[in-house]
Amino acid sequence: MKMRILIVEDERAIADLINMNLTRVGFACDWAHNGKQGADYIETNKYDLVLLDIMLPEISGYELMEYIRPMKIPVIFITAKGSVKDKVKGLRMGADDYLVKPFSIDELIARVESVLRRYHKGMQVVHVLDIQIDTLSRTVMQNKKIIHLTHKEYDLLYYLVQNQNIALYRETIYEKIWEDSEYRETRTVDLHIQRLRKKLNWNEYIKTIFKIGYMLEVKS
Ligand code: CA
Repeated sequence: MKMRILIVEDERAIADLINMNLTRVGFACDWAHNGKQGADYIETNKYDLVLLDIMLPEISGYELMEYIRPMKIPVIFITAKGSVKDKVKGLRMGADDYLVKPFSIDELIARVESVLRRYHKGMQVVHVLDIQIDTLSRTVMQNKKIIHLTHKEYDLLYYLVQNQNIALYRETIYEKIWEDSEYRETRTVDLHIQRLRKKLNWNEYIKTIFKIGYMLEVKS
């Protein structure tokens, strides 16, 4: 699954810019436009990281940070305040990093990736059968070569790996990977499975389960 990032930011233009660029490099993003909505989202969804603006109406970023901290979700503060005092306060409160507006997109992506890397040390690379998956860079290696997968093929592969030896319904796969609650097209899942089998030469591992869907078989 994609890593999920919550953007808490009251300025739509900035939120859109962050959302667009993080989505482009493979993250899933949600946008909360105030602190209360941010808290609601954090309560109901699972996030890998929160980008938190400090100057928010009603509940400030610092106040929301108090709420987030016990949950051990990494936080990067975003703010126009560039003073050393604010920076120190943010870091003391448990933020993992700090971005000062205006920031470049490259800087944003680099900081997000670096914080996630720190948090996911050790669980970043997954070995299964004859491949290695780097979950942060979303790259797949087989026999020391990179296997080029589309975003959806990668998501599908990772989902199969996480659910290895479990027969998965086509409908469930579709809902998870295409993030759509309404199952419409059978062929989409089948087509992507075929592509994966071919690219990885995994015909014998990705089994078709009659009347159900598919299963990645990994014998221990
Ligand atoms: Ca603001």
